[in-house]
Amino acid sequence: MKKEYNRPPTREDFTRNPEYEKLEEEIVSFWKCNHENITCVVTMTDGRESIKDVCKLCGHAGGSQSRKKFTQKEQSKMHRTTTSGLIDYRQKHHEKLERLINQQKSIKEDIITNHSESWWEWYKEYLLSPEWKDKRQLVMGRARNVCESCGSNAAKQVHHIAYDHVGNEPLWELKAVCDECHEVLHSEKVTYD
Ligand SMILES: [Zn+2]
Ligand SMILES: [Zn+2]
Ligand SMILES: [Zn+2]
Repeated sequence: MKKEYNRPPTREDFTRNPEYEKLEEEIVSFWKCNHENITCVVTMTDGRESIKDVCKLCGHAGGSQSRKKFTQKEQSKMHRTTTSGLIDYRQKHHEKLERLINQQKSIKEDIITNHSESWWEWYKEYLLSPEWKDKRQLVMGRARNVCESCGSNAAKQVHHIAYDHVGNEPLWELKAVCDECHEVLHSEKVTYD
């Protein structure tokens, strides 16, 4: 019996997925940018020019530096940008971050779907196992083959009131029920048995 499916996905189900992990790393490095600065002449909104270290990865700008630190020649060679150029840059960086996060989210959803599919596969197998047959017999015996929901019809099926311990369930998580009651129990919650 494949017990490992009998649980919700854990952190490992995600970290085992290389695509998910790669995105995680990218997102973290985007989020906590190790700025790669270049010194730029930034034209401010009021038209003044200021020398700043600007990160070429995320557009983050440091404080203004004294122009005296740089020769005219150095200043003329500097990359030039504007305040709104920096805002655009940060906007683009932000959009890319958002795209990465959404990509990761959809991978996460796939992992959860696959996980629950394999869980249901395992569960269907379990319902055919001798272990389940024995347990079913015990529940039916406890109920003396009478539905534990309506108390009048003959019990035909065994219903899980919780799925927390499936495969290893205590008998009190199982109820003997008639077909009618079972249908009612499942009309609100779509499950298998
Ligand atoms: Zn940066
Ligand atoms: Zn009943
Ligand atoms: Zn049921």
